[in-house]
Amino acid sequence: MNIVLTGYRGTGKSAVARLLAQKLGWQSLSLDAMIAQQEGRTIPEIVAARGWEYFRDVEAALLAEAAARDRVILDTGGGAILRKQNVQALRKNGLVFWLKASPETIAARIKDSAVRPALMPGKTFLEEIDEVLRERTPLYHAAADFEIDTDGKALEKIGDEICSYFARITEPAAPGLTVPERSRYLRQMLIGGWGLQGQQRLRSATIFIAGAGGLGCPAALYLAAAGVGTLRLCDFGLVETSNLNRQLLYTEADIGKEKALKAAGALQRLNPHVTVEPLFEKIDDASIERLAGGANLMLDCLDNFETRHVLNRFAVRTGIPLVHAGIEGLAGQLSFIHPPHTPCLFCMFPGSPPAGRVFPVAGVTPGIIGTAQAAEALKWLTGIGSTLQGELLVWDGTIMEFQKIPIAKDKNCPVCSPMSV
Ligand SMILES: [Zn+2]
Repeated sequence: MNIVLTGYRGTGKSAVARLLAQKLGWQSLSLDAMIAQQEGRTIPEIVAARGWEYFRDVEAALLAEAAARDRVILDTGGGAILRKQNVQALRKNGLVFWLKASPETIAARIKDSAVRPALMPGKTFLEEIDEVLRERTPLYHAAADFEIDTDGKALEKIGDEICSYFARITEPAAPGLTVPERSRYLRQMLIGGWGLQGQQRLRSATIFIAGAGGLGCPAALYLAAAGVGTLRLCDFGLVETSNLNRQLLYTEADIGKEKALKAAGALQRLNPHVTVEPLFEKIDDASIERLAGGANLMLDCLDNFETRHVLNRFAVRTGIPLVHAGIEGLAGQLSFIHPPHTPCLFCMFPGSPPAGRVFPVAGVTPGIIGTAQAAEALKWLTGIGSTLQGELLVWDGTIMEFQKIPIAKDKNCPVCSPMSV
């Protein structure tokens, strides 16, 4: 594994490379220096004699050679990312850090340097930097695993930042996570208490999502994106036109198709590192064991209480936590049910209002509540913070108010009281 530094000239790549080499005891390689050495003349001389295209060819050949080594700090020239095959070679065995600086900082740092020829004759220095940066920024962005702001930062601080990212990605504490996965989840792993271990817990978790509708779509999207290893997504419905204001995993082309299958396809495209099992099945007391058995957590993303009570009974029987949610109009509710530690759903809502009613709902409502369900699941699985155990969160979107209402166990509950279990 190598550390690759990219970025426009003047962003401190060579100085940072030297510092990192010292810190890690690795070799530092400067691509520009390698080119000059091989060609026996300076880069302005090479460009003047043979042109930029020739220079880029030499650069590509030496870059491929350097990128194939191990444990080197590779300081690339500012334009190395212009060629796609260069980026592929660099990323194959390296983490790419893009050192960023404002045009003003760059201009101040390189104004006296005559090492590289101007790319745009006739433009002022700052204009040239500005234009080249604008043109190259998307390429730097696409090539980089990490972006490091260098404005106003001491060299030592930049080096520490890179070392800490590198350690998080490569440390052996979580052998199951590949380097691309570690890069993908880095920003959430930086949350205190999450880290590689939390990510590993997510990866080995299975969540049963009951319902791939208004609540199930946002919940599944965030859980898949966060890297929950297996999502069992269960829905016996077909996509309808009136679903599309809120069920954002579907498009018009999906109308009439099985929700579970279409949603699973969309989620796999979002994150190919997780497994999404579509279950086009009805949830009832006979099927629940087969569908949700062995899951670490269940999400109630349903639209009727009859089926919710099937999940609740299963949760009480097995001890698998259940994140309940319900929505209507611009309002929603949420609770984390973990029998026998918390009240069960029946303690809170003993009845089953008749199902099948066409109820009003704005797309944002399940967006907010379904996302909150995913947040509860992620906290529970990583062990961060606390969940809504023994509490019902009630959201009134018309006045944008969240309220937490304490809920108590019904000691005579026919589902969860010790007499009935
Ligand atoms: Zn109960």
